[in-house]
Amino acid sequence: MTKKTFTSKPPQYQENPSEPDTSLPPPPYTPQETTPLIPGGPSYAGSSYAPSGPSYTGPSYTASSRFSDNSSTAGSLPSHFPRRNRTLRHAFRELRRDYLLATYHRALDAVAARGWRPPTLRWPGSSRSQRSSECGHEVDGGRRRERVRVWVKGVRRWGRVGEEKRRKRRRVILCCNLLIWVLVALGIAVFISGRWANEGGDRWPAPPERKETVRVGIVGAGPAGVSAAYTLSTSFKSKDVSLEIILFEQKASIGGRMVTNHAFPKERLGREVHPEDVASGQIGGNSLRNRARELGFDYRLEKKLIADEVGFFNGQDIVAKLTRPMDEMSWRTWLTLVLKYRFSLWNAKQLPKGTMKTFDKLLESRSTFERVSDMTKSAGIDGAVGLGAVARLSANGVGGDYIHEVLRPQVLRQTGQYVTELSDLAISMGLQREDQCSAGYRGSFARILDNFVQRSRAELRLSTKVTSLKRELTVDGGRSWVLELQKTGHSEVKSEVFDHVIVAGPSSSLLKHIYHDEEVFYRDLFVTFLVSTKELDKKYFGGSDNIPSQILPIQSDRLRSDLEGIHEISYVGDTFGPDLNAEAVGKLYRILSDRSVSRQQILAFGGEAVLEIYEENIEHAYPLTWPRNGKFGEFKLKDGLWHTGVVETIGSSVELSWVGGENVGRLVARSLGRGVPRKQADIPKMKQVPQNGIMK
Ligand SMILES: Cc1cc2nc3c(=O)[nH]c(=O)nc-3n(C[C@H](O)[C@H](O)[C@H](O)COP(=O)(O)OP(=O)(O)OC[C@H]3O[C@@H](n4cnc5c(N)ncnc54)[C@H](O)[C@@H]3O)c2cc1C
Repeated sequence: MTKKTFTSKPPQYQENPSEPDTSLPPPPYTPQETTPLIPGGPSYAGSSYAPSGPSYTGPSYTASSRFSDNSSTAGSLPSHFPRRNRTLRHAFRELRRDYLLATYHRALDAVAARGWRPPTLRWPGSSRSQRSSECGHEVDGGRRRERVRVWVKGVRRWGRVGEEKRRKRRRVILCCNLLIWVLVALGIAVFISGRWANEGGDRWPAPPERKETVRVGIVGAGPAGVSAAYTLSTSFKSKDVSLEIILFEQKASIGGRMVTNHAFPKERLGREVHPEDVASGQIGGNSLRNRARELGFDYRLEKKLIADEVGFFNGQDIVAKLTRPMDEMSWRTWLTLVLKYRFSLWNAKQLPKGTMKTFDKLLESRSTFERVSDMTKSAGIDGAVGLGAVARLSANGVGGDYIHEVLRPQVLRQTGQYVTELSDLAISMGLQREDQCSAGYRGSFARILDNFVQRSRAELRLSTKVTSLKRELTVDGGRSWVLELQKTGHSEVKSEVFDHVIVAGPSSSLLKHIYHDEEVFYRDLFVTFLVSTKELDKKYFGGSDNIPSQILPIQSDRLRSDLEGIHEISYVGDTFGPDLNAEAVGKLYRILSDRSVSRQQILAFGGEAVLEIYEENIEHAYPLTWPRNGKFGEFKLKDGLWHTGVVETIGSSVELSWVGGENVGRLVARSLGRGVPRKQADIPKMKQVPQNGIMK
């Protein structure tokens, strides 16, 4: 080891220097004799472990000088130690080291005396060379340490390389695993597809190249058409097939046969005649109402109609008066009627109850049927549709004048047919409605249907008549249905191609060249509205001061010719001008008849005060519902051609048509296959109807 001597003048020690002067070199070392560090301790020179190389030449302090910090002894301390506390700390550390080293070497001597090789002592904080020289292992230890250092470096490098390799190896293993799993999955898929192909042939559908669009045309936007559109759209959802539903309605508004077009414009009478004024009756059952409620669309009867008192007119007198519903009749009226018709009145009231209870099950059912006969069997009403009304009336003890004077006019008004023509179910439906028919919806019925159309996302084309229906070959060799369409007021006819066509409602003219069996026959109805400034002629109706708001003429030879074919004359309500506080412009009456009513006829009982008359012919108003057994017709007429109207072979009501439309909607969805019901969340929210039932 080279001994270094600093020749520059050593700096003077300062008591409390402001900044340590680290730039100054350490003080020169003066070689001294090896003396015991601790009085009585071992001397290095005498130790068998004394360094064999160059001897230790570092400073040697006496114990007294190390702990002394006064100025007189300051010269014996290292002059570059700047602070007292630092000096003390250093001195203490030195002392501790010396003491421990001395103790250690004493122990080494003892161990060496027994022939053991001691380990190298490492002293934290001391320099390597100092430690080595102190321990007497400077040369060998240095080499060994150098070797170890090189070895550690190598290990580190090797470790780093190994880590990378390991990462790479892990990645390769992961990829191999994935590949194996993919191969296994592919193998399973190929195996299953092979088995399926062997078993069922086409059970493995080829993936479509692009989303196929199925076009469904619905003829008629009455209850059946709307319900078919709504049910089809909500019960079919497919990733591969998109539905395009188009509703064609020949009239300017939806709602079907019981909704008239606005008869009187507001400008002429100051009050718009609501479409439903023609029906003005409660919708018989409750299925449509329940369906609407399920969708958060609650509607209620807006108000009681004035036509709650019914008079039966035989040409000379009003022979009987009833109140609707019968339960609200006064005991005096009951007494008069019971005296006249005995128990027939009560028995007739009870007649529809049992049959309609069973029928309501059909209305609430969500099952799908191919044929109407399956429907009637499943609901347990095949007996009621096969039994004649006359047999049922006599079995229930209804007879005598009651049938001729009360029941017949009631049934004629409801069904357009005579008692002898009807089945038990048809007369029950008519009588039930007759007893409830005391309130109206005043336009909200059409709005309810409109909401269903919106929810179905079907395209509605009003004032578009389907003039013909043909099955034609398409370019790709398939067969489709071609509808010829004509807009109201236009002579031009356009054609459109559809995959499926649903004829919703009575459309015998469209179907007659396609479908002959189980045809549904209809009777027409004429609706006449008249506005008069005065009430009906009292003298004409028997001279009574109090003319009932609804008159049902009893059709017989005794009836005057003016009333021939007339089923009903009803007071609907007052018509007002723009100022509702002003006096009413006139009174609105409605006449239902099986033939057109002339102005002379109307003037005979309406008087000279009649202001306006409007007549509308409702084609296919009443289906003929005679008692039938066995077959009633199928909902599917041909491949891709469906008919809801077959349900009308058993009866006619909004609810029954609604159920028929639902059934066909489900059948079409089923025939399209692969469809799954749309989630409730997918269906757009329906507009809420305010409590009074009127929507803005
Ligand atoms: C005066 C009257 C009052 C009634 N009152 C009640 C009552 O109070 N309660 C009750 O439950 N039932 C009542 N009904 C019966 C009820 O109206 C029917 O049962 C119901 O309307 C039948 O519905 P639908 O959809 O099957 O047929 P429809 O209502 O007849 O609907 C068929 C639709 O198809 C349209 N259409 C037909 N042919 C074509 C074509 N070629 N192109 C385009 N469109 C076409 C028609 O214009 C019509 O809108 C009443 C019936 C009448 C006549």
